[in-house]
Amino acid sequence: ILDLQHIKKSFGDNEVLKDIDLTVEEGQVVSIIGPSGSGKSTLLRIATFLETMDDGTLSYNEKPVVTSVNHHASYDHKKAIEEAMNTFGLVFQNFNLFPHFTVLKNIIDAPVRNQKRNKQEVIQEARELLKKMGLSDKENAYPCELSGGQQQRVSIARALALKPKILFFDEPTSALDPELTLEILKVIKELAKEKMTMVIVTHEMQFARDVSDVIVFMDKGVIVEKTTPEKMFTSDNERTKAFLGKYY
Ligand code: ATP
Ligand code: MG
Repeated sequence: ILDLQHIKKSFGDNEVLKDIDLTVEEGQVVSIIGPSGSGKSTLLRIATFLETMDDGTLSYNEKPVVTSVNHHASYDHKKAIEEAMNTFGLVFQNFNLFPHFTVLKNIIDAPVRNQKRNKQEVIQEARELLKKMGLSDKENAYPCELSGGQQQRVSIARALALKPKILFFDEPTSALDPELTLEILKVIKELAKEKMTMVIVTHEMQFARDVSDVIVFMDKGVIVEKTTPEKMFTSDNERTKAFLGKYY
């Protein structure tokens, strides 16, 4: 469903991504782990068009969206990019809810305004999603009236309301205390059971081990290892061992 090949990205003379390959199949859960500054968020931002790459190729559903021309990334496939952007959802560390919108309006805004879907229908679906997230009684609340865990569940519902084929998470729990973290990890595990395709940047190693089909370990802009949880957590690679430390 997603294919990134030979991704290169620098900020000034800081080479942040050095020839990264990543493929995600439908129904897979892929976790990206690695130390701070290794390029995890940059990779996610490139996959979701929040950032441009310098060179490499990107395809959604086998359709090339970014191609490499003379060692430069070429982005002129406007229609393909639009189409690709309709196939994924994004959940950030800091929830990014609209503070002046109620919970319900946060969820229905994009499906109604951008996807031009029927409002009543979207409201029904939003209520179903809120129920699933255990937030049925909060549809008229404002984000500031919710706990961090509740806000994050709203932002997951908001992403799901767009009916994405793939969901990206960038450290969805790092702004939460341990109890609320578990609450969000449980929601993500539920989605994994339902075979939602997901790419998750996380520092929660035990969670990555439990939920992932593939774990990608990045360090200093390269993929050190990309393998199953069992193999990752029994790896012979010295760098992997050092990073996983106590989980090993
Ligand atoms: P963390 O675990 O702390 O979130 P990360 O693996 O997500 O780290 P990135 O945010 O991808 O790391 O950053 C990788 C490198 O790119 C860092 O050295 C960072 O300073 C640099 N960087 C990221 N975004 C920008 C930007 N917009 N401008 C300049 N440098 C940037
Ligand atoms: Mg990051």
